[in-house]
Amino acid sequence: MRVKVNVKGIVQGVGFRPFAYRIAMKNNLKGYVKNRGDAGVEILLEGQDGNITAFLADLKQKKPPLAQIYEINTTKLQGKNEHVNFTIHRSSKEVEHSGSVIPPDIAICPECLQELRPPQDRRHDYFFITCTNCGPRYTIIDQLPYDRENTTMRDFPTCSFCHNQYADPLDRRFHAQTVACPACGPKAYLTTNDGKPVRNKDPIREAGRLLREGNILAIKGYGGFHVATSTIKDKSIARLRGVKHRSQKPFAIMARNLETIETFAEVGEAEAELLTSYARPIVLLNKKDDCYLSKLIAPDLHNVGVMLPYTGLHYMLFDGTDEPAFVMTSANPPNQPIVTDNEEALKILGNTVDYFLFHNRQIAHRCDDSVIRIHNERKVFIRRSRGYAPAPIILKRRAKRCVLALGGELNNTACILFENKAFISQHIGDVENIETRDFLENAAKHLIRLTNSKVEAIACDLHPKFATTRLAQDLAEQNGWQLSQVQHHYAHIAALMTEHNAKDMIGICCDGYGYGSDGEAWGGEILLCTQDSFRFRRVAHLEKQPLVGGDLATRYPLRIDAGVLSKEVNVEDWLLENKQHFPHGEQEIKIVLHQLRKGNRMVETTSCGRILDAVAAILGVSCERTYEGELAMKLESIARKGRDVLKLKPLIKGDTLETTQMLLGIFENRNKCSREDLAHSAHAYLAKGLATLAVEKASESNVKNIGFSGGAACNEILATNMRGIVKSAGFQFLVHEAIPLGDGGVSFGQAVAVGFSKS
Ligand SMILES: [Zn+2]
Ligand SMILES: [Zn+2]
Ligand SMILES: [Zn+2]
Repeated sequence: MRVKVNVKGIVQGVGFRPFAYRIAMKNNLKGYVKNRGDAGVEILLEGQDGNITAFLADLKQKKPPLAQIYEINTTKLQGKNEHVNFTIHRSSKEVEHSGSVIPPDIAICPECLQELRPPQDRRHDYFFITCTNCGPRYTIIDQLPYDRENTTMRDFPTCSFCHNQYADPLDRRFHAQTVACPACGPKAYLTTNDGKPVRNKDPIREAGRLLREGNILAIKGYGGFHVATSTIKDKSIARLRGVKHRSQKPFAIMARNLETIETFAEVGEAEAELLTSYARPIVLLNKKDDCYLSKLIAPDLHNVGVMLPYTGLHYMLFDGTDEPAFVMTSANPPNQPIVTDNEEALKILGNTVDYFLFHNRQIAHRCDDSVIRIHNERKVFIRRSRGYAPAPIILKRRAKRCVLALGGELNNTACILFENKAFISQHIGDVENIETRDFLENAAKHLIRLTNSKVEAIACDLHPKFATTRLAQDLAEQNGWQLSQVQHHYAHIAALMTEHNAKDMIGICCDGYGYGSDGEAWGGEILLCTQDSFRFRRVAHLEKQPLVGGDLATRYPLRIDAGVLSKEVNVEDWLLENKQHFPHGEQEIKIVLHQLRKGNRMVETTSCGRILDAVAAILGVSCERTYEGELAMKLESIARKGRDVLKLKPLIKGDTLETTQMLLGIFENRNKCSREDLAHSAHAYLAKGLATLAVEKASESNVKNIGFSGGAACNEILATNMRGIVKSAGFQFLVHEAIPLGDGGVSFGQAVAVGFSKS
């Protein structure tokens, strides 16, 4: 019998052809296996019927650990057998709309890590040791199929030692495109901050030593540069904060090993599994009470982002030191994507760092680290990037059209949806300027190429002035694609509904800012959505509050307090006590109060994030926001140690949860109760109020599912309290598992909202 087998999925760059070769040998079959230009694999089999059946069973059951099979199509062929043996053919350029994709970057595997150590091994100390089961993929590939000449490894022809392993079917590196050794592979070298070579025959361990001394280094990795320094020396971290103009935003750290992490942070089973998984994300872990790392790493937060080494280079950095961990933060200038090019790094980072640890392999596609938090033993994506992108999210339904979605503005991603697969790009960042806009456009085009998608429609945010909206308009015009704009919070809830294949949902969206269907600033919404029509209705929201001074109120939340509290009490004296938190002091306070007294029409917002900011400012947790979500995160850290002492009853008027009385309650008790208890009381009020409203709306509209999404859904106190109320009322409580809950999930939500809608 002769059959042709087409395998679709993540089957290139994961050792699939050598695997097919081995099971063909075992089952005594002739023919070939080859990579196709559409990221799929084609196998031709000739032999006995029973052997072919056994082969197909092995194909499904014994696949390599990193492979994912979406579909196997088998076609019987006519004609006589032609092959005398089984071979791995050269790749073909054949392309169809297959839905296959190359894998994400994969952390160094245990076998390679073991080979890194013994001095007699050829790859002893080789920082980029890899095999078919590990190493970079997405960040080195220019085009399909996944062959060395299509990756940035093309600059490093294999030596005979590596080539022999590459050609040996019994070797772990058989057809491993990233195979390399000290003789033929990429090289690491150390320079000063102006690019002068630092001669050292062990540059990586020397870099570790320099870090221990308190220096700041830029270190080139798989998907971009990290900036690294000590985690225990305040002086070094303070210096890094100074040069990065980043006073508060937490830095991620890379720890020596799991045991070391357990000395400063709490690691549950779910966290340990994630930390050591081949994706090696940054995991947000609760600091231990006696956490000895510098307080400057994650100021005023109860948690810290930790990852484990994921390349040989990272492991070697720790070798010559006893440091528990290093700060390892993405090297990007403010509002720009992570730096990937050596020349550019020297130019952009030269003033920030003391030394560079370079390697000479190019990065084809930049990719930041992923960030995950565990809630209730469940994984919550804060950022889905390295180790996950571009692997698709598999849906239970097929989309009606192929959609490219460009997301919102902050923490953005792009998404391609076709049939039952959604491919979300790596983290793009805040798309506010030309550099990030270009990055978004390139990442989207790369995804289209990698997936051979024929885009029919393009989706973007409703905001008329977002750079992503304008880019979507340009692309729609150039390509003749249908353009659809999707309301921001609806995108969050559509994402959640699709992820769970729920037929309808009352979605609670607690967020920062999103442009509402009425042009106002939304952010604390309850939406009714159905899969049937893929439309939404805003059924309830938080009370509208004045945003005194617009964007200024977002940065300085005492302005929000002034606007809200002035409705009920005179806050002039209190504001004057806090005048140091207004850039123009007393004069600014006078103007704010004057505006409020005159009753000027102001921008109003229903944002949940702004209310949490306002609480944080009353409690003096922080009165200036220097990064997205800062005050709400710090407030949560304090609230964890408190109780609901105020026990405020949710004030619901019609479709609105009032927030004025709650803020007033916090304000009036600010000197009577602890900050921790008041912070907790505010959380309890919002969770109870929103969950009660959601339950009411769900009963009215006969919906069984209540979902929780938006940037503030990463708040564990809100999520836990809501879950309790919703479940005890007999409804399902759904949260994100595969899609980021913040704005990294908006592109996916837009894509499904457009891809599944009828028109
Ligand atoms: Zn390996
Ligand atoms: Zn070699
Ligand atoms: Zn959002």
